[in-house]
Amino acid sequence: MTADNFKIAVFCEMMKNGYPNKVSLQLVSKAVSMAENIDNAKVMVIIIGKRMFYDPVINEISSCGADKIIIANDDVLKEFSSERYKIALTEILKREKPEVVLFGATVFGRELAPLVATALKTGLTADCTALNITKDGILEATRPTYDGKMKAVIVCKTLPQMATVRPNVFKVSYKNSQKDTKVLFDWIDTNSDKNLPKLLETLPFPKSSGNTLENAKIIFAGGKGLKNSDNFKKLYELAKLAGAEVGASRGAVDAGLAPADIQIGQTGKTVAPKLYIAFGISGMAQHLAGINSCDKIIAVNNDAEAPVFNVANVGIIGDAAEIIEKMTDKLYKRLEIENDR
Ligand SMILES: Cc1cc2nc3c(=O)[nH]c(=O)nc-3n(C[C@H](O)[C@H](O)[C@H](O)COP(=O)(O)OP(=O)(O)OC[C@H]3O[C@@H](n4cnc5c(N)ncnc54)[C@H](O)[C@@H]3O)c2cc1C
Repeated sequence: MTADNFKIAVFCEMMKNGYPNKVSLQLVSKAVSMAENIDNAKVMVIIIGKRMFYDPVINEISSCGADKIIIANDDVLKEFSSERYKIALTEILKREKPEVVLFGATVFGRELAPLVATALKTGLTADCTALNITKDGILEATRPTYDGKMKAVIVCKTLPQMATVRPNVFKVSYKNSQKDTKVLFDWIDTNSDKNLPKLLETLPFPKSSGNTLENAKIIFAGGKGLKNSDNFKKLYELAKLAGAEVGASRGAVDAGLAPADIQIGQTGKTVAPKLYIAFGISGMAQHLAGINSCDKIIAVNNDAEAPVFNVANVGIIGDAAEIIEKMTDKLYKRLEIENDR
């Protein structure tokens, strides 16, 4: 594989609010750090859609160190349509010929990436948890396999080398100096295929637990050490007072203490809050796989030898339920004082 003019492309998924999905910025940052490994490598970011606040979006992507942004802009691309987005993205990729293309492993990314890979007759490594690029431009994409029991490092022999990557496995990193990022506005005819599905109606996402763990700044997670659902309810109360989201270990999910959609770890969600407090979680490798990117970890466990203390910034040895109650009382008292002022 030639390393001359090597290009890494990132599909930037736009959210309803007109800003990029956090995973896209995480991927731009990762692409920029991988590009530093290869002489003259460049990072391009591809945006498709309408409803975009261009300047802040461009500034943010540029601050992550991208060399070029291509914006395919059209009214018909306002709502996500995997077929139309496939046409637009495939055309841009055929023209730009990047060696690597990255997508967030989101609902949209997981739908779009395989369609584009098929159109480009190349391979796709889905749901990656780590990426590495060799000096000669070979993308080594790591993903869990055999139900998470093993990790496979996958290399694609065809170009472009494509991967979808789980949110929060990388951090967004901003460069100190703003890059002179080239911005190209593009228009691509996505109407040529007359058999395209038509959008009839957009329904709101069904409400699950309302939990938005992936973007949470503070997470309080409960494990099997919480022992019963009453203690889990207490954890929810504490989290509400503290403005935190609630997560759980698989131990807690399997024991029926918490719903599966809040499981954190290798077969659950990957999170990156500023503060993560683990209550009664032992800290097995499969759980830790989901909390690698947390800024600060506090662990509460009654076993001083629990492995979670090896990764915690602060460790509290004690009964998790008691500590939850004490924290809740303190917060209520603090709120009373503030209300009295
Ligand atoms: C393929 C595979 C995928 C997996 N994926 C995931 C995953 O995505 N996420 C995940 O979490 N796990 C996952 N697991 C399971 C993982 O290996 C652990 O079994 C699980 O994380 C354990 O959950 P736990 O820490 O809540 O329970 P336990 O390991 O049983 O730990 C309970 C902890 O609570 C402490 N404790 C007990 N009583 C108290 C008390 N009163 N106060 C304070 N502490 C107390 C104990 O000392 C212990 O450390 C996976 C396993 C496999 C094989």
